[in-house]
Amino acid sequence: MTILKFGGTSVQNAEAIRNVISIVETRKGKRIVVVSAVAGVTNKLVNIINSLNAENLHQALTYSDELLEKHLNIAKELNLKSDVFEFIKNKFIELQNLLNALDVLGEVSPKSKDMILSYGELLSSFLIYNAFLKAKKYVSLIDIRTVLKTDSNYTEANVNFKETKKNAENIINSALQQNDIIITQGFIASNAQGFTTTLGRGGSDYSASIIASVLKAEKLEIWTDVDGILTSDPRIVKETLLIRELSYTEASELAFFGAKVLHPKTIYPAVKEEIPVWVLNTFNPFKSGTKIVSKTSTKKMIKAIAFRKGTIVINISSNRMLGAYGFLSSVFEIFKKYETSVDLVTTSEVSISLTIDDTKNLDLIVKELKKFSTVEVQKKQAIISAIGEGIKNTSGIASRFFNVLKGINISMVSLGASEVNLSIVVSEKDVEKALSLLHNEFFGNLKSDDVFQKLN
Ligand code: ASP
Repeated sequence: MTILKFGGTSVQNAEAIRNVISIVETRKGKRIVVVSAVAGVTNKLVNIINSLNAENLHQALTYSDELLEKHLNIAKELNLKSDVFEFIKNKFIELQNLLNALDVLGEVSPKSKDMILSYGELLSSFLIYNAFLKAKKYVSLIDIRTVLKTDSNYTEANVNFKETKKNAENIINSALQQNDIIITQGFIASNAQGFTTTLGRGGSDYSASIIASVLKAEKLEIWTDVDGILTSDPRIVKETLLIRELSYTEASELAFFGAKVLHPKTIYPAVKEEIPVWVLNTFNPFKSGTKIVSKTSTKKMIKAIAFRKGTIVINISSNRMLGAYGFLSSVFEIFKKYETSVDLVTTSEVSISLTIDDTKNLDLIVKELKKFSTVEVQKKQAIISAIGEGIKNTSGIASRFFNVLKGINISMVSLGASEVNLSIVVSEKDVEKALSLLHNEFFGNLKSDDVFQKLN
């Protein structure tokens, strides 16, 4: 069984939806197609909620009309039957009734919010289902709210895996007896009372991963609008390569640096069951994509060079630290008190250097630290990291890494605790140069192979 998840841009118009059908057709066996709302629709539904909160019903209804138009246009371009148009119009009458009622009540509770947000996925899945039928592909449509069960933490609901598994085995498996292909919605779910909940923005990947895990699928394919995960930021580094295979740990490290392709937390249920997760491009379906696995079989030492700007380095030193105990804990107590997350840490006998991103309580933190130490703050810093499981077992990486950076001032070094990253801190103004030098050193002469693929 394969789970295929298509994001908003992959279903953004009739042409994209036809493309989805042909991609699903290239796969064999039982397939579950999990879809997002049409691109931009969830954002507009959020605008509707905001307009209601601002007591502007007129604006909310205008947005709703725009969404009606958008869905009717797609149905028209797909040349769908008249009952599809009826269904869409009725859905919007229902939505407008709901908006009018909420306006009378004068509040949009999180529960109502989820109800409104669910229209995006309910409409897109209905359109896609009918597009399949139109193309004479026999598929079933399942309302995932009958399967995916959560608690009542509206807008960020927590999944009840046990219930979901039981329902999936009953409902999805029996539908798969009828047809090999099932269409269903990402992002939405329901609680024990049957009220609609959602899994948080961008939650469709998570839905697909949950379904893959409870049904023990062979693979999960996340279809999006990029070729996969790259060795670096293509806006800075010219010759970035596509990474064909990454471990879950490597992908998580990359996410810290803002690799926006996919949030590792969302694919965790699938990875935990050792189900490989592929990131693929709907608009370039024959590219190899990136495969994320629980344990990588490739022994390539470095997979990517990533960076993160906006870092602050805090150097804390105190003579009292010499031979004393409790100093580190007093330092970290302060960061805990001000709910500020610390990223990199290095210590010596008399000093500690650490980085933070969140400057909200910086002044208060520094004030408290100064009570027992000397504190120096460096702003506009950036973390640059080489990421790869091979780092821990390969000698000579650090010397190549530092050699190539000759002339760039490095203010902190850390071989990450996970041992899959070698990180340094440099001034923000040196990021472009350092990134290009490092990328060239580790990937400059690489040709396409089993781990990397040239982009052009
Ligand atoms: N449509 C939802 C959103 O935009 C969920 C998703 O696409 O993953 O947040």
